[in-house]
Amino acid sequence: MKKFIPVSEPEITEKEINYVNKAVKSGWVSSLGEFIIKFEEEFSKFIGTKYALTTCNGTTALHLALTSIGIKEGDEVIVPDITFIATANAVKYTGATPVFADIEQDTWCIDPNDIRKKITPKTKAIIPVHLYGHPANMDPILEIANKYGLFVIEDCAEAHGAEYKGKKVGSIGHCGVFSFYGNKIITTGEGGMITTNDYNIYNKAKFLRDHAMNPNKRYWHTEIGYNYRITNMQAALGLAQLERIEELIQKKITIFNLYKNYLNEINEIKLNPEKEWAKNVFWMISIIINNFDENKRNSLISKLKNLGIDSRPFFYPCSLMPMYNKNNFSNPVSYDIYKKGLNLPSGYNLTEQDILWITENLKNLIKT
Ligand SMILES: *Cc1c(COP(=O)(O)O)cnc(C)c1O
Repeated sequence: MKKFIPVSEPEITEKEINYVNKAVKSGWVSSLGEFIIKFEEEFSKFIGTKYALTTCNGTTALHLALTSIGIKEGDEVIVPDITFIATANAVKYTGATPVFADIEQDTWCIDPNDIRKKITPKTKAIIPVHLYGHPANMDPILEIANKYGLFVIEDCAEAHGAEYKGKKVGSIGHCGVFSFYGNKIITTGEGGMITTNDYNIYNKAKFLRDHAMNPNKRYWHTEIGYNYRITNMQAALGLAQLERIEELIQKKITIFNLYKNYLNEINEIKLNPEKEWAKNVFWMISIIINNFDENKRNSLISKLKNLGIDSRPFFYPCSLMPMYNKNNFSNPVSYDIYKKGLNLPSGYNLTEQDILWITENLKNLIKT
C-alpha cells in the first residue's frame, strides 16, 4: 500500500490520554473544571503575560479580543492581506472593516510601511499575524500604534512559542490570540486563548465570554455577550500538550532543518524565512518557487498528491475573496507570493525518510 503523508498531524501521547481520561471521569466535562484553570495559568506563564483566557476556538478568541477593546461598526482594523480568513472575518463580526496591508518579502508578515499608508481617522487597531510560525516585525508596528493611539492584537494562531527579539509572541501587543485547532503547534481539538497584561481587557473578555452575566447577580445581563467557553476535556488535552510544547517545537525545528538540508542546492526554492531577531517555530514548512504561477503550483500539488504527498497552496490574499474584493486593494508582494507558494508536510510524525522522499520528488517535479 502506498504511504500517504499528510500536511499536518498532531502528536497525542499517553500523557494526553491520561489527562483527558481524568477530566471525563471527574464528571467536570463542561466549561468549569480544574484543567481549564491550570491550562490558563500555565499558558500565561509560558507566554509571559499576567493573564490568559481560554475560548472555544481561535476565531472566537479574535472576535472576543476585538469586542473587549471596543472595536465596533464604523471602525477600521488593519490586517495583513495574506492570512487565514478568520483574521479578517473576526473584524467583520464586530461590524468594523478590515483594511488589508501588504506583507514583507522577507518575513511573509504584515509590512509596517504599508500599515502607515493605510491608516485613516477611522483606524482603531492593527492585527499583525505571525504567519506560518514567523513573528511579524513588532517594533515598528508598536511605534506606529503608539503614534496613532491604536490597539495591537497579535494573531499568534500559528506561532505558539515563536519569539521576537527574545520575547514570546502574544506578550508584545495589547493582547495575543491563539488557536488550538488540530493542526496547530499544540491542540485541544478545537480551542483558543487570549493572552494579555491588561486586567481590563482580560476582565471584559471573561465577562463577554460567559454571556456578559453580572458576576454578582446571576442571570442579570447588561449587554449582549457570547458563549465562547472551552470544555474541561479540551483543556485537559491542552495542558498535556503544553507540558510537551518545548519538545514539539524542537520537532518542528528539526523538520525544517532536514528540509533545508535536502533542498539546499535548489536555487528555485525559497524556504521559510528566519530573520536574525526571530525565533521561527515553523508551523508549516513552506516554499516559494521562483517563476511559478498559480497553474504550475496547482499542478505540482496534484502531482505530489498522486505520489501520496499532501500539500497546500499558500493562503490567497483576503482581498481577492468575493466579500472583500470590492475595495480594490493592490498589495503587490501578497499578490505575487501567493501564486508561487505551498505548504509541505509538516506533521510531528514525519521521519527523515519521509522528508527525503518528499524533497527528491519535489526536485524532480520542479525540473520537468
Ligand atoms: C487557525 C487560524 C485562526 C483561527 O483559529 P480557529 O481555532 O481555527 O478558529 C486564526 N488566524 C490564523 C492566522 C489561523 O491560522
